[in-house]
Amino acid sequence: MHTYFYATGDFDRGAGRREDHSWLRARLQDPTSRLYPLWHLRHLVRNEILSDGPVPRAQALDLLRHADLVARADTVILLGVDGEVAHFALDLSGLDEASATALGEFQELRAIGALMPQRDGALLAYARGLAYWHQRHRFCGACGAPTEVKAAGHQRQCTNHDCSTVQFPRTDPAVIMRVTCGNRILMARQAMWAQGMHSVLAGFVEPGESLEDAVTREVFEEVGLRVRDVRYFGSQPWPFPASLMLGFTAEADSEDVRLQDGEIESVRWMTRVELLNSPEDETFRLPRADSISRRLIEDWLRL
Ligand SMILES: [Zn+2]
Repeated sequence: MHTYFYATGDFDRGAGRREDHSWLRARLQDPTSRLYPLWHLRHLVRNEILSDGPVPRAQALDLLRHADLVARADTVILLGVDGEVAHFALDLSGLDEASATALGEFQELRAIGALMPQRDGALLAYARGLAYWHQRHRFCGACGAPTEVKAAGHQRQCTNHDCSTVQFPRTDPAVIMRVTCGNRILMARQAMWAQGMHSVLAGFVEPGESLEDAVTREVFEEVGLRVRDVRYFGSQPWPFPASLMLGFTAEADSEDVRLQDGEIESVRWMTRVELLNSPEDETFRLPRADSISRRLIEDWLRL
């Protein structure tokens, strides 16, 4: 099976090491450990020069030259272990801009993820998702007291001893669905998207819904269509900021679209030939190459 962009796959997340404090202390003094800095949700990257041009790569720092960064980090997160090498994300948002940029170039993953090797993008997506969660859970939702980092960056716990509520990183499930009617596919456009970009429909799952319920509801809310044969396709982490995209396919009973909630600006029913001849310009372009929406469309083109 093809690995989805931003999915860490078989990377060992080291879950059994997160409470092993002596092991963690040793790894944070081990010169072979790798540190992946973030600064305001941007990642330290470098350009690798290949024969057909530069490719952005995740830039890891080592503890020999950068031991001070561990103490200066807002949050230290164990990402996992690759062989014997521990990988940590460091949130360095507390550094001023001059100190941060002295380390190198920080970039937004959304801008460069599709250009990176899949594994690099996945590791940074994982780091970004956790760093984002930490930044927004500094205080307890139950009593308002400050929280502190636990489990090597995979939990936070309330510091009020009468409360001690533990919080876990959250991921927001969203359904994304390819709606077809016979030999045509529904391509929709939101006004806020890049000019010409069209994609499949998507929306967040609400409490009390199954994923299939969410697909059916979202399609009806956005375009007024009733769908059947709702089938699971695959899933992709989408850490912008905290989604898990759950892909589905569905068949519409008719092509009689009624735009309902204002989220969708326009839609088109398109054939495979029309999609294969996409002009990729301001009149029409396919979704970005690192997205599950693109995967849903390309899968349909092969059917
Ligand atoms: Zn509390």
